[in-house]
Amino acid sequence: MSCDVKKYARVVVNIPVNKVFHYSIPEEIKDSIDVGSLVNVPFGRRYLTGYCVGFAGESDVQNIKDIKSVTDKNISVDDGMLRITKWISDYYCCSWGEALDAVMPVGVKNSLTAKPVKFAKLVEDVSGAEDEIDRIAKKSPAQARILRTLTEINNELSVKDLLSIAKANRSSLSKLEERNLVVIRTSSCSSPKTKENKHVILKDVARPDLSDEQQKAVDVIDTKLKEHSFNVILLQGVTGSGKTEVYLRAIELAVSLGLCSIVLVPEIALTPQTIRYFKTRFENVAVMHSNLLESDRRQQWQSIKNGTVNVVVGTRSAIFAPVKRLGVVIVDEEHEGTFKQENSPRYNGRDVGIMRAMYNDALVILGSATPSLESYYNAVREKYTHVLMKKRIGKMVVPHVDIVDMAKEASQTKRFCYISRHLERSMRKALLEDGQIILFLNRRGFAPFINCRKCGFVLKCKNCDITLTYHKITNNMVCHYCYREQPAPKDCPDCAMPDIKYQGFGTERVEEEIKRKFPDQIVLRMDSDTMKKRGSHEKAFAEFENGKAHILLGTQMIAKGLDFANVTVVGVISADTTLNIPDFRSSERTFQLLAQVSGRAGRGVKEGLVIIQAFNTKHYSIQHALKTDYEGFAMEELSFRKQLNYPPYGRIIRILFMGKVEENVKERATVLTNRLKRYGREKGLTVDILGPAEASVSRIKNKFRWHTILKAPKSCPIHSIIDHISSDLPLSGGVQSIVDVDPGYML
Ligand SMILES: [Zn+2]
Ligand SMILES: [Zn+2]
Repeated sequence: MSCDVKKYARVVVNIPVNKVFHYSIPEEIKDSIDVGSLVNVPFGRRYLTGYCVGFAGESDVQNIKDIKSVTDKNISVDDGMLRITKWISDYYCCSWGEALDAVMPVGVKNSLTAKPVKFAKLVEDVSGAEDEIDRIAKKSPAQARILRTLTEINNELSVKDLLSIAKANRSSLSKLEERNLVVIRTSSCSSPKTKENKHVILKDVARPDLSDEQQKAVDVIDTKLKEHSFNVILLQGVTGSGKTEVYLRAIELAVSLGLCSIVLVPEIALTPQTIRYFKTRFENVAVMHSNLLESDRRQQWQSIKNGTVNVVVGTRSAIFAPVKRLGVVIVDEEHEGTFKQENSPRYNGRDVGIMRAMYNDALVILGSATPSLESYYNAVREKYTHVLMKKRIGKMVVPHVDIVDMAKEASQTKRFCYISRHLERSMRKALLEDGQIILFLNRRGFAPFINCRKCGFVLKCKNCDITLTYHKITNNMVCHYCYREQPAPKDCPDCAMPDIKYQGFGTERVEEEIKRKFPDQIVLRMDSDTMKKRGSHEKAFAEFENGKAHILLGTQMIAKGLDFANVTVVGVISADTTLNIPDFRSSERTFQLLAQVSGRAGRGVKEGLVIIQAFNTKHYSIQHALKTDYEGFAMEELSFRKQLNYPPYGRIIRILFMGKVEENVKERATVLTNRLKRYGREKGLTVDILGPAEASVSRIKNKFRWHTILKAPKSCPIHSIIDHISSDLPLSGGVQSIVDVDPGYML
């Protein structure tokens, strides 16, 4: 671009206002700035990181300010990423700056304003000298920890990260430097030097033989990949049909064509086995997750950008990995809600993946045993290629599924138990045969609410419109929305009578019952209360895998992709828990959860039994799950969605209004909604605008919540309606308005 056109830079910043700002370009940075450069710009009274999205020869803006600084060429956003973020901004109704900011890892953005960073590494000839480290450990354990950390990492590490990992202080490190065991260098560039990476990425390991169905799937992928054009495959395979192996082969094929792969998984900590498969098969895999150190993240980003890493595995934001030649995007468990980001930009990683593949003529593989209705509908209409895998691989057989009507159970036993007689008997039998048991309950704590038997008082959170859950271990009442805790009351806070009753049940209470019924057994409980520490998932999974414990009880975190050969009984304590959530996706979620949990049984040679306990046993989600009949469920659910114009037949945009003063929230919601309605009528748009109404959870963290739902057929330009009010978003008169396109939850 010639210099006279490069007079002004068009810059976007991470603020919720969708506007491009003009800045003048000082002479000294004219050569280094380009479209996609990160820039440091004055904004009001502060400085912000911005993104240069173009240039202008002239500008009618008054008092244009100068750009302060610009990053070097290595750190910039490429054209593909500018394009995808522009799409995110248009589609999800956020600012371009917000979208761009989501794409760049924190560590990379910080390099713009970073102070010089110190890096430490081992002196060459001491690396690996175990004896030396042992000798030092006797006198100074902290120094030994530093040496061990550096030996393990086998690369240089920022001093800050090193001391935090080694739990050592700066003086221990200085001593090692004095003794010439460690060298420290100062660098203005805040990422460590990348080690030379080998380009061999396929590991020489034995690959399992493919089943006929797997082979067919791989053949389809092979053909599509070689077309080098945009395609989406829905790989619908029952649990145990070997989808992971198909993914691995797809990546191998991409590698052989010199192409990169991005694999999205719902959650890293919950899919340790899947990650292990990738690591054993490929040399240079970047695993992106939220627990990474800043410096690691930066280094990873840099090596992906340099092209030394060809396979990226991670959660939703991994879809922004700066790979050069994208060949395939794989989305494992594509129906999972975790791909949707719940704060701005509110994108769905799966859908961004499909767009990214479209811009790059790449292939998308969506894998699931229970696809989202959106993807299934596209496959049935032949917009996607539908590949089915109906059989479990090897000797695994589809487990037998039983249902227990808990209302009948209670009337027959004259008391209420969390574990039915059938489930208890089956558990005893499994334990006798040395089998393992997984019990599932999607609710943590001891009792989801307490009330007074005298006056009926129910204890709610002071800040939220939510009952407090009793946690017995801490003897506290906890709000599951704002995490506020208070001691459990002895007497009723309202009438002062000592007649508090603990209602309902969560994992804590069920754990107590299991311990009472099976006093000789170790019960492993996995929920967000017991899994707070880093690495606790891996530890618990390993304990179960090694057979240290025979009973595993957990929330939805145990429902995903786990593969334990010895599990013969799976019990769903209460299938009603997810069904009773007021959301149009509740039936879909219940079916998916039941199918997934059931898939954990009988994965080895032993036969599996699944027992589903429920009150609402006649519900079609439960009935179809009982027969593991996805198609039957999908047909029934689709006809219901069609009647009501819900996705996949229509699109939904939800506008949420939040604020501390209820009257203001209501008024703001009414004014904006009426304007939308008027606009829709004037333009003759076929859009249903429902509301404003109080949200199902009407208050969270002291903020009142109202919402309006826009529902329209896909052909309706529903986004243009939002544009009409966008200048009045996001904040006005203490009321925040949030636009959520394709919302995951409507609570
Ligand atoms: Zn009372
Ligand atoms: Zn609360």
